Amino acid sequence: MYKEAINNYLKKNGYNNIHLKAVLFDMDGVLFNSMPNHAEAWHRTMAQFGFTLSREEAYMYEGRTGASTINIVSQRERGYDATEEEIHRIYQAKSELFNQYPQSERMPGAFEVLTKIKEAGITPMVVTGSGQTSLLDRLNQNFPGIFKRELMVTAFDVKFGKPNPEPYLMALKKGGLQPNEALVVENAPLGVEAGVAAGIFTIAVNTGPLPDNTLLDKGADLLFHSMPDFDIHWKELEQELQIKQ
Ligand code: CA
Repeated sequence: MYKEAINNYLKKNGYNNIHLKAVLFDMDGVLFNSMPNHAEAWHRTMAQFGFTLSREEAYMYEGRTGASTINIVSQRERGYDATEEEIHRIYQAKSELFNQYPQSERMPGAFEVLTKIKEAGITPMVVTGSGQTSLLDRLNQNFPGIFKRELMVTAFDVKFGKPNPEPYLMALKKGGLQPNEALVVENAPLGVEAGVAAGIFTIAVNTGPLPDNTLLDKGADLLFHSMPDFDIHWKELEQELQIKQ
């Protein structure tokens, strides 16, 4: 199963093999179980401003900027974009509501697989659209000794954000990596799209309510149903990746 996925990737991208040096992890919905709170905050805030955005739809837009999410709904329901001021007010209200919720838990299975990856001499990196200032502290508290600050890509490093490949291209640059020297681990359709567009073997971990097809249709090379599922199969996948094709 893995062999076929690897061969398809190599053929599509014109490589002879994968020399695995780093694994690039998205954060929300992969390392932290923060998406239920984000979806809830989006749903409630948009309703407060007279818009309809279901929780499930919020998952479809995961990774987009706040402005982009607001404008998709504004266009649909009013036929025009929100003003800068509206965007600012809505996004601020959403952030305030999100911050009132209890801090998200570490995703089960995440620390386990990160530890295995690190022990194998492969570098784990974080690539997120989030710009919370406490990000590094939270990562260090929850995943002690795993990540290096200078290898992180956050909202401060990029202009476009996912689904643009920029965040993943930036991660390759920071890590001194070629696309076939890394893997991407993503839970959202737009994140998968970004990883695939960067030419990196992209693993979807479907930790949310969307059907698998929303991730596979964006070009995910492999799909697991949870982080524990990814953790359980990691060794087998790693061995398959090391075999010269
Ligand atoms: Ca995510």
